[in-house]
Amino acid sequence: KEQGRNSFYFFSAEMNESTRERLNIERQLRQDLERQQGFYLVFQPKVDLQNNRVVGMEALVRWRNEELGEVLPTRFIPIAESSGLIVPLGQWILQAACSQLKQWQESTGAQFKVAVNLSGRQLTQPDLLPVVASVLQDTGLEGESLELELTESMLMETVEKTVVLLSQLKQLGISLAIDDFGTGYSSLSYLKRFPIDTLKIDRSFVRDLEADRDDEAIIEAIIAMAGSLKMQVVAEGVETELQFDFLRSRGADLYQGFLFSEPVPASEFARRFLA
Ligand code: C2E
Ligand code: CA
Ligand code: CA
Ligand code: CA
Repeated sequence: KEQGRNSFYFFSAEMNESTRERLNIERQLRQDLERQQGFYLVFQPKVDLQNNRVVGMEALVRWRNEELGEVLPTRFIPIAESSGLIVPLGQWILQAACSQLKQWQESTGAQFKVAVNLSGRQLTQPDLLPVVASVLQDTGLEGESLELELTESMLMETVEKTVVLLSQLKQLGISLAIDDFGTGYSSLSYLKRFPIDTLKIDRSFVRDLEADRDDEAIIEAIIAMAGSLKMQVVAEGVETELQFDFLRSRGADLYQGFLFSEPVPASEFARRFLA
């Protein structure tokens, strides 16, 4: 920290510019969070590879700011994480996703699950468990209808504590998925210690399927591994029929991707997938 302070003065003009931009995004994020404005969710269907039925959806946050316009999550999520603002934002996302699904369940009887992304900062908050429990309580959503997506690196940070926390979340009926699977460093022996239900094969392996034989082998290995650990496999970023055919023939369970649908606003999701 002290080092960082002094070295600030050695930054190039360009660095200064990007530091200023980050600070501005952080300030706008903070303001919009306080005013509870600008944030909304989009939903991407999760689809059964065998029968092409929608079985659930992933909630993804979007942000439209008065000054900055529409800001991409890949831009503002890292800033929300480093500033700690992801904690209140994450809580808003969880609440909004659960309450949207509850509303859909009541109006259409849909038995979907909603998946919500958790960031590392949220997982290390001491009150994560009571927060999640009270969101379920407030919205009336069953824990069985909620899935949380975590990344490998989040699990590896404090293994013992994390195992306990994840078991407590599972006791609420919630299911757990590892997002971007294959990009981290988890070994088999580590993986089986966590009560994980689902592996989501990272988009990068799916994307390069056509061009790279190694990625075929990696995907086959992940599917085989998930099978022996009794986990479900979701493929993300499926854009082509060829990718779809490959994943289906190899026995992956679900897929998400532009081939079926982009993430869409709630009203469009209801119209297209809940009718
Ligand atoms: P992620 O969790 O891996 O989310 C999947 C990303 O892939 C989404 O980008 C989605 O729009 C995109 N995607 C889905 N299908 C396809 C496809 O067929 N092709 C391609 N090229 N992309 C596809 P998005 O919404 O921009 O989110 C990017 C990342 O930002 C997410 O990656 C996640 O790490 C983070 N993020 C987004 N929403 C949230 C949130 O609500 N909470 C947290 N903590 N992080 C979020
Ligand atoms: Ca995700
Ligand atoms: Ca992912
Ligand atoms: Ca990804």
